[in-house]
Amino acid sequence: MNSNILVFEPVSRTVSLAMSLKKVLLDVKTKYQHVQIVEIEEFGRTLILDGLIQCTEADEYLYHESLVHPVMITHPKPKKVLIVGGGDGAALREVLKHDVVEEVVLVDIDGELVDIARKYLEVIHKGSFNDPRSRVVIMDGFKYIEESNDRYDVVILDLTDPHGPEIAKALYSKEFYSKLTSRLYGDGIIVTQSGNSFFFPNTYGRTVSNVRQVFSIVREYSVWVPSFGYACNFIIASNSYDPARLSRYEVDERLRVRNVSTSYYNGEVHEMFMRMPVLYNRFSVDVDR
Ligand code: SAM
Repeated sequence: MNSNILVFEPVSRTVSLAMSLKKVLLDVKTKYQHVQIVEIEEFGRTLILDGLIQCTEADEYLYHESLVHPVMITHPKPKKVLIVGGGDGAALREVLKHDVVEEVVLVDIDGELVDIARKYLEVIHKGSFNDPRSRVVIMDGFKYIEESNDRYDVVILDLTDPHGPEIAKALYSKEFYSKLTSRLYGDGIIVTQSGNSFFFPNTYGRTVSNVRQVFSIVREYSVWVPSFGYACNFIIASNSYDPARLSRYEVDERLRVRNVSTSYYNGEVHEMFMRMPVLYNRFSVDVDR
């Protein structure tokens, strides 16, 4: 292994990935979290929050295309989109690819992090914050959902992990999902990143149970993210549209009509997502806290 300093990415409470650290570009504590911007061998520029990799230059497209496009494609005309979290600007970048989108509001709790991302993560956000359709609101996502009067076609929850730091935990609760329905248009649809079902089966199980108590149509899928050391799970939910009813041909047609270019996601991948089993691990040490 390369003689560089090793950085250990916690995969679960007992498993870590060892990676070769090339350079530290920034290491600060904001009001809410420990933010590190580093260069990692074979992964490039990387954002780490409270010791957990959030995205790397090399493989973030797998996560962000899988998070954003299935829910966006499932809605027939997503003009108004809300992203809660996503302070690195990558989910915003993917949403803006859909030329049907008229407005994207990104609500993140940490304004210092967003400023850091604007400066250090251009290679990832590619200027998405400056798109005239983008509006950034610095606020706790739970508070925003409670206090805002806006409604959305699509809501994307791109938060820190449900098994991660406390600041996002409340946004995986039944109470939050219930309040979220009043921020959706009647046929609105949501997606949330939901950590990992294999290493955190109880935490993941609680999240999907909370979603199922609020939405009638719930679909689960995942994508392997090499820098996470696991497949990241996603949950799509709606009371109107079922992503599993879209064929690969309809998905590819909607991508074409909206001029959306992707590196990973397409109609075949969408159909694969909708047929994936959820992986659990009976040896897991995850206790649902
Ligand atoms: N898991 C995603 C990934 O791996 O790419 C996370 C990406 S994004 C960096 C996670 C964002 O959630 C951060 O910008 C963080 O500030 C934000 N966040 C955490 N708790 C939040 C809250 N309560 N309200 C709004 N944003 C929050």
